[in-house]
Amino acid sequence: MSRVRVKKRFVAGAKCPKCHAQDSIVLFKEQGVETVECVECDYREQQAEAEVAKQATGAVIGVFKP
Ligand SMILES: [Zn+2]
Repeated sequence: MSRVRVKKRFVAGAKCPKCHAQDSIVLFKEQGVETVECVECDYREQQAEAEVAKQATGAVIGVFKP
C-alpha cells in the first residue's frame, strides 16, 4: 500500500478502454495532473481534463484553460 490517499470520483457512464468494464473509471488529481484509473484492471492515464472528459463520455463539456 504505497498509494497516497486522494479524492477519487467515479466518471458516470465511462467505460474502460482496456477491460471494457462500465462505471469502473475513477478520476482524480495526482500532483495537479488529472488522472483516470480503472478499478477493475490496471488501466491508468494522465492527461488534460478536457481530453479525459472527451474520451470518457465522447463529448466535450467545455473546459477553458488559462
Ligand atoms: Zn479496466
